[in-house]
Amino acid sequence: MNRIKLKEGKDKKIRNNYLWIFRDDIATLFRDREAIDDGSVVEIYDSENKFLAVGSYNSKSHIVTRVWSKQNVTIDRGFFYHRIKKALEFRQSLKIDSNAQRLIHSEADYLPGLMVDQFGEYLVLQIRSLGMEKFKSDIIDILRELLHPKGIYERSDMESRQEEGLEPVSGVLHGEVPEFIDIRENDLQFRVDMAKGHKTGFYLDQRDNRAYVQQLIKPNQRTLDLFSYSGGFAIALAHAGASVTAIDSDPDAVAMAIENAKLNNVEKKCEFIAQDVFQFLDQQGDLQKASPDKVRKFDLIVIDPPAIAKRKEGMDKLKWAYWKLLLGTIKLLNPGGHIVLSSCAYHMDVDRMLEAARFATADLGVRFRVHSVTYQPPDHPWVLQIPETLYLKTVYFQLM
Ligand code: SAH
Repeated sequence: MNRIKLKEGKDKKIRNNYLWIFRDDIATLFRDREAIDDGSVVEIYDSENKFLAVGSYNSKSHIVTRVWSKQNVTIDRGFFYHRIKKALEFRQSLKIDSNAQRLIHSEADYLPGLMVDQFGEYLVLQIRSLGMEKFKSDIIDILRELLHPKGIYERSDMESRQEEGLEPVSGVLHGEVPEFIDIRENDLQFRVDMAKGHKTGFYLDQRDNRAYVQQLIKPNQRTLDLFSYSGGFAIALAHAGASVTAIDSDPDAVAMAIENAKLNNVEKKCEFIAQDVFQFLDQQGDLQKASPDKVRKFDLIVIDPPAIAKRKEGMDKLKWAYWKLLLGTIKLLNPGGHIVLSSCAYHMDVDRMLEAARFATADLGVRFRVHSVTYQPPDHPWVLQIPETLYLKTVYFQLM
């Protein structure tokens, strides 16, 4: 068996149920003087040669080893069967009122590098690590045995696979997959494009926020959905009786949002615009200066930008982007109005979001009540011992 030995003190995090070992944590690699094959299973030892865990090794990744188990078990189909079954049992206990949910959430289900989303009778699978890639056929087999999906589609086409030495891939893995799937979430319906949509096709992780915003508005109030993608928030708000302006720079996303509005009979309540959000806000700012009476104001504004900066180094840029978004939107808010601000970037945490809001409100001389803070829904679990599993934060501000 391949073995790696950690530097002194680096065993603690593994003993505390963290799963990632970085290049710098390793003291020695040894396997009869040969290099360890990337993707193979390794035993992990502490600096005093005591057994710690088994994991998967990949010299190409900055996460050189991802832990599979703290027990010295064989990593095979049986191992994954047990872990997947546990993840599915947890989802069953949640009683989510939707036929679409995340079934497997990578590290947070102790299945590093594996994501599985359910859309009705279909599954979308995403593999992000070489260690998991090695067991792909077992994973497909287990999913078929436990869930009997009509089809499984793979969406392993994200950039981060490069770092694992993996090519981007997507396509049908099993059965037949239609071009679009209609899902139901509470009393809303959405059309999902598993093949061409963003991520795995739909932002399931905003489900609870979509329900929450509906409680904050009164019928016929005006709302704005920025970075609207396929219209998740817009349609929820329109369904609750608000009129909505929704903006996204991707014309395909806007087309999908229009379809979704029709599906929910709210197209008359919605206006979808394919435009850059920053450009839209600049235009509104200019209009406000020229003829303040012509500017439309809103009672609730959702701001859900993409991750933009995935790494810590990009955080300053992201914080200023948030500041800019807030500055532009606060000016468009009616008194007592809400701003719903999300961040799906791990490093852009609640403190940084609040800081951006402090700057923006100070610049405009206004006061915000922090109405609520929410996190990703429970089918996208996060584990206390693995901080990186918390990625989605949403702060609800109210103009006082
Ligand atoms: N709120 C959505 C998810 C948003 S994902 C939902 O709940 O489903 C981020 C979206 O921002 C993507 O659809 C992307 O096309 C869009 N986007 C990225 N940069 C943009 C920009 N500068 N202006 C407008 N939209 C942008």
